[in-house]
Amino acid sequence: MPLEYRLSPACQTLKPSATIAAAAKAKELKSKGIKVYDFTLGEPDFNTPQHIREAAVAAMDAGHTHYTASGGILELKQAVCRLYERDYGLKFAPNQVLISNGAKHSIHNVITSLCGPGDEVIIPTPYWVSYSALVELTGATAVLVPTTEASGFTLSAEQFAAAITPRTKLMMLNNPCNPTGAAYTPAQLEALAKVAVEKNIPVLSDEIYEKLIYGDTQFRCFATFGSEVAERTIIVSGVSKAYAMTGWRIGWTIGPVDVIKAMDNLQSQETSNPCSISQYASIAAIDGPQESVEAMRVEFEKRRDYVVGRFNEMRSKFGVTFAEPGGAFYVFFNVEKSFGKKLGGGRVVNNATDFCTALLEEAHVALVTGDAFGAPGYVRLSFATSIELLQAGLDRLEAFLAG
Ligand SMILES: *Cc1c(COP(=O)(O)O)cnc(C)c1O
Repeated sequence: MPLEYRLSPACQTLKPSATIAAAAKAKELKSKGIKVYDFTLGEPDFNTPQHIREAAVAAMDAGHTHYTASGGILELKQAVCRLYERDYGLKFAPNQVLISNGAKHSIHNVITSLCGPGDEVIIPTPYWVSYSALVELTGATAVLVPTTEASGFTLSAEQFAAAITPRTKLMMLNNPCNPTGAAYTPAQLEALAKVAVEKNIPVLSDEIYEKLIYGDTQFRCFATFGSEVAERTIIVSGVSKAYAMTGWRIGWTIGPVDVIKAMDNLQSQETSNPCSISQYASIAAIDGPQESVEAMRVEFEKRRDYVVGRFNEMRSKFGVTFAEPGGAFYVFFNVEKSFGKKLGGGRVVNNATDFCTALLEEAHVALVTGDAFGAPGYVRLSFATSIELLQAGLDRLEAFLAG
């Protein structure tokens, strides 16, 4: 008789990451020989810069192919400290830094070390798919606070304050934001920081897109608003987005020594250390020439400007609305005006998930539904791909909207 496995309560309700699922659906069509215009990707399309790849080879040749300290090598922690001093004037000690297997793992470690049943975690929506899933895995409750397109999808200090209860353990901020591209102004951040200090609430600031900032937008690290704010800030970032190193799996957390120590204990039991070779490559990324970071940013900015231009046209033609992205590489747009109308192939849809399915099937354009980000009626397009592909894909999207 076959054994029937019964999953844990946590995994019975756990869904796969919706962005990864959307990419898989596009891949399936591609494997049938169909040309798919895939804008689901949440990663830079550039290869990792050469000097970083060479540092990885040198690390292997030098024998750095063994286990390292569970929380990462001291040399990388020191490099991370140099990075924050260089870029933001912030002084941290290596025992405030933990290196993990990508920033997603860093976020998991922070939540798991701080949260449990009965706790609440404030998450502004639209939000990155994994935030609430990781909170709920610990038995804590994700308190979702909706932001609006009119506010550029930013959380106000009043909204933050109103969501706080005696059970609040943490607020999770993503600046610049995936999926909206929202980038907070320094004044907006300062107002949030003031609430964090007054109400004594720690803020997990996911700053993975810190180097991908466009136009007049200014980036400020959340810990730069004085020592009282820095004490309440847990910074998460990494090399994935700035250095086109998603596959290398290196992220970091900077926070209070005791929290970092707890996270290190957790990591030592769960995964041991992050990849030794990737850690050495990350030192080269941080300490080496930064020209490639700016070159990639400039390229992303050209794409953003092109895509924003196209969406401005679609706004007047089809009532597609959006807030201009100040950072990251996404446009998050509203397609509610097309619900109930005849779209390409005679399809009629009533929600964003069906919109994405119909668009993929009829026009072979792959996007991610806003339902995956807690934002019904919206759709996410990633512009981390060539202008040529964006042009062809947006032509198809327009034709689909025109019916
Ligand atoms: C890509 C991304 C991350 C982390 O990526 P890693 O590859 O795990 O370092 C974290 N937060 C957001 C919002 C992201 O989009």
